[in-house]
Amino acid sequence: MLKTLLASVDGMVYRRRLDPDWTMEFVSSGCVRVTGHHPGDLLFNNRVAYGELVIADDRMWVREAIACAVSEFRSFDLEYRITHCDGSTRWVWERGTGISDEHGRPIAIEGLVQDITKRKHAEHALREAERRYHGLFDNAIEGIFRTTLDGHFVDANPALAHIYGYDSAEELLVSFLNVGTQLYVEKQRREEFVSIMSARGSVTGFESQVYRKSGEIIWISENARAVFAEDGTPIGYEGTVEDITERRHYQVRIEHQANYDTLTGLANRALLQDRLQQALLTAASSGRRVAVAFVDLDRFKFINDSLGHHVGDELLKAVAARLKSCVRDCDTVARLGGDEFVLLINGHTGPEYVRQLMEKMLAAVAQPWVIEQGEFLVSCSIGVALHPDDGAEALTLLKHADSAMYRAKDNGRSNFQFFTHELNALMTEQLELETHLRRALERNQFVLRYQPRVHLATGQIVGAEALLRWRIPQRGTVPPMRFISLAEETGLIVPIGKWVLQTACAQNKAWQDAGLPPIVVSVNVSPRQFRHESLVHVVAEVLQSTGLQPRFLELELTESMVMDDAPKLVAMLDELKELGVKIAVDDFGTGYSSLSYLKRFPVDRLKVDRSFVENMTTEADDATIVRTIIALGHNLGLKVVAEGVETAQQARALRAYQCDEAQGFLFARAVSSYTLPKLITRSIPGRRV
Ligand code: C2E
Ligand code: MG
Ligand code: MG
Repeated sequence: MLKTLLASVDGMVYRRRLDPDWTMEFVSSGCVRVTGHHPGDLLFNNRVAYGELVIADDRMWVREAIACAVSEFRSFDLEYRITHCDGSTRWVWERGTGISDEHGRPIAIEGLVQDITKRKHAEHALREAERRYHGLFDNAIEGIFRTTLDGHFVDANPALAHIYGYDSAEELLVSFLNVGTQLYVEKQRREEFVSIMSARGSVTGFESQVYRKSGEIIWISENARAVFAEDGTPIGYEGTVEDITERRHYQVRIEHQANYDTLTGLANRALLQDRLQQALLTAASSGRRVAVAFVDLDRFKFINDSLGHHVGDELLKAVAARLKSCVRDCDTVARLGGDEFVLLINGHTGPEYVRQLMEKMLAAVAQPWVIEQGEFLVSCSIGVALHPDDGAEALTLLKHADSAMYRAKDNGRSNFQFFTHELNALMTEQLELETHLRRALERNQFVLRYQPRVHLATGQIVGAEALLRWRIPQRGTVPPMRFISLAEETGLIVPIGKWVLQTACAQNKAWQDAGLPPIVVSVNVSPRQFRHESLVHVVAEVLQSTGLQPRFLELELTESMVMDDAPKLVAMLDELKELGVKIAVDDFGTGYSSLSYLKRFPVDRLKVDRSFVENMTTEADDATIVRTIIALGHNLGLKVVAEGVETAQQARALRAYQCDEAQGFLFARAVSSYTLPKLITRSIPGRRV
């Protein structure tokens, strides 16, 4: 039984003497597997001594280790190499114990020797793999990381530390508490990373901006995959990081070069085409207006040729900056090449807006240009095409703007032309009008007409509205509708308005001094005048200088004006009220009014807009509106005036609704200051119209 047992042991069981030859007294059959020799060959050193099988390098230390263990009565446990019968070197593991005689003197060793070559090779391969892995990990150019799910680094290589600006991987590991909040510039980036991970298990080429230790921002690209525990639950992520800052910068530069002009930094032709296409697409769906302006410098060639290309380039840059300063961010200024620029004006409000913008551009470019070589005056010619009237497509618009620009050149340069002739005509007239308007005051071209306001019940004239007329020699009278808004835009309304006030008050005082029954004169005040700080001051001054009692002056303001800036206006109206002046709301019912303002504003009179009066005898709705306004006014304690009364039928209806006063062609048109007194006198003794 012992024999079979020994035979089945994996290895060689032995007993040997403690002599220099390790003379074997017993060797089990496992000897063949371990050494390749038959047990008989080893027994009593028949053919070989076991001690000689141990390779020379190991023989000494093994012998010493065994001697030492035996002398200390310990068992030993050793790994060493022997030479196999076939000549190969084998790793063996030996475990043995010293055996003593009855006097306690060690006489032999018993133990087991096993072949562990396979295990040794496996261990070696593993160590080798580990060494190679560490080599890769430590020497890689790419950063390598492993993080937990909640964003702690558990591993990082030196390259990663280097990319993120840390001195060592260790420093990086302790510095990061949370990759999500500390690393990414865009905070939602980590969430995106995690969501791609949970969807696909890996990310590739994931590009983000991250902070380095110094706070510097760089671009990185990550490849990573999820790491799972043995039971399949995800426990973290591992992957590589590459610093792609250079590449990104290069890309941006390339993209920029593809879309922008290198000299001026403006959009180039390609980008302009893109933007124009885009603008036309949105214009079609949103109804926004698009205009294209072609700008060409006048006599650029002259400067370029006489002062050199270098100076020419500087000029182009300066012009680019000037053009750019005139437009909004949503507009595009592009350079097509040479001295040709194109402007794309997006979502503008109409030809008038474009006209003003073009004038601003002309003026900006015309500013003297001062350089080392001296001061230069540059100008440009501009051609404008409006979408959709002048073309529905990008190319057509550009072509038409271009041809309009040539007309501007023909027109003596330094001007702009619309592609459409009607617009040009309108613009010329507008321009001319503006030039005239600037001189109208000093040339005494304004006169006032007075339209009587009648007390409906008695027919007596109780007031008159001063209406402005502008007479240009050889051109006739310009109606206020055509020039008031222009005066508003140019700010000329302020001095003109002051003149109206002055004239109307002086006239009213003159009538009173001449013995006429006193009436109230109404003066229209435009929004711009109201916004001007000095209105109260001007009114007070005019009343003072003319000597007119304030209660004989009424100011008419429109609803839209009232709504604009309520708190400031209330203060202003209160001040006017304090002066003793009356206030009327003109064209009532046409604006977007809030009825609550009527309560808050110190108003005396409502003027029902002409459009309601016009149709009140034919349209039931209009009649209702007029009646309602009258009732509303009365409830608030205000007087109500109907504007534009043209028929007796209207007057009758208004009387029936108890409207207080009326104004209109039925009673009188606006008349001169000479005619009005006659109308007043005639209206006095209860004569009904
Ligand atoms: P508004 O203040 O509503 O003036 C009334 C306008 O209606 C006047 O036109 C007047 O002639 C006209 N009108 C009066 N009765 C009738 C009628 O029965 N039928 C018709 N069809 N029209 C009638 P006008 O003089 O052309 O003035 C137009 C607007 O110009 C005025 O509207 C006012 O807003 C503005 N305006 C006139 N003078 C001045 C001024 O001195 N300063 C300011 N800021 N605006 C003024
Ligand atoms: Mg008025
Ligand atoms: Mg009116």
